[in-house]
Amino acid sequence: MIIIMEEGAPRQAIDEMIAAVEAEGFQPFVNPGVERTVIAVLGVVNVEKVQVADKFASFPGVERVALVSEPYKLASRAHHPAGTVLNIRGVTIGGTELCIMAGPCSVESREQTLEIAHAVKASGAHMLRGGAFKPRTSPYAFQGLGVEGLKILAEAREQTGLPVVTEVMDHSDVEQAKDYADILQIGARNMQNFRLLRCVGATNLPVLLKRGFGCKVEDLLMAAEYIMAEGNAQVILCERGIITFETSTRFTTDINAVPVIKHHSHLPIVVDPSHAAGDWRYVASIALAGIAAGADGLEVEVHNNPAKAKSDSAQALTPEKFDDFMRRARLVAAAVDRTIGEVPVG
Ligand code: PEP
Ligand code: MN
Repeated sequence: MIIIMEEGAPRQAIDEMIAAVEAEGFQPFVNPGVERTVIAVLGVVNVEKVQVADKFASFPGVERVALVSEPYKLASRAHHPAGTVLNIRGVTIGGTELCIMAGPCSVESREQTLEIAHAVKASGAHMLRGGAFKPRTSPYAFQGLGVEGLKILAEAREQTGLPVVTEVMDHSDVEQAKDYADILQIGARNMQNFRLLRCVGATNLPVLLKRGFGCKVEDLLMAAEYIMAEGNAQVILCERGIITFETSTRFTTDINAVPVIKHHSHLPIVVDPSHAAGDWRYVASIALAGIAAGADGLEVEVHNNPAKAKSDSAQALTPEKFDDFMRRARLVAAAVDRTIGEVPVG
């Protein structure tokens, strides 16, 4: 932490600041500077420093306080230098092998879900995604099949062996989903629903945490910290596009977030090209870019009859298009020393 005093701050203010730093158990290093005094604060890095920084910033004669270390700990790479590799029913995420999660936006029926599950499995997907509880902009739009949808997902897992990823929006969804799902998804709209984060943090299920479309990378990592602080270290981050001034796609994929998150955190990160694009035409390109950028996997929407889909029909890939995409994905993965269902060559 660095405390930057105002230009011409009186000696008394500087002395009071130094005393306060010492009183908190830190060691102050004072650099008088030509224009202003800067105090470097040395001590054990811990997350409580954030609160102390706010306190120091309110002292007379202080211009600002800058934090050198990150405000999150459990999610930070400094805390856990090796990348985390999760193993979910034998499927790994975070290692050399990419994890491709694919499936419909919503579970609409048993037939629809089973057909899509078998198709994505045949193309090499590792997990099945599908929403039983849907966050919809309109209260009149299809809200999902609820528990019935969870049962269909569990049947699809039984038939295909694919672990299941499904979204939860509140405590009661978590209670119901934890008996069926392998990964609980927190959607973009709930990324900062802190009670929900604590709630999934109290389960022993892995959590797929999607970045809020108005949230910074640091906000995403702080949200992961909420889950981890409850004792659940199995967090997978997801970049799914953010709001920018660009309107030609539904959201803008922040591809930069992938290497940035890899640098600051040990948690696996996947890219969702479907919600970012909002249009199936762009999905494959964005997904390939995600792999090239170093993502540990993808979450892609696939529908057997997009024109009839009850949600997100415009962005769904058909099983044929998904199959063609997977072929190209293997090539891009190999170019960045990753694999999709294959043993690395050489
Ligand atoms: C979804 O995955 O179906 C979804 C609603 O995604 P997001 O929360 O990223 O909008
Ligand atoms: Mn969707």
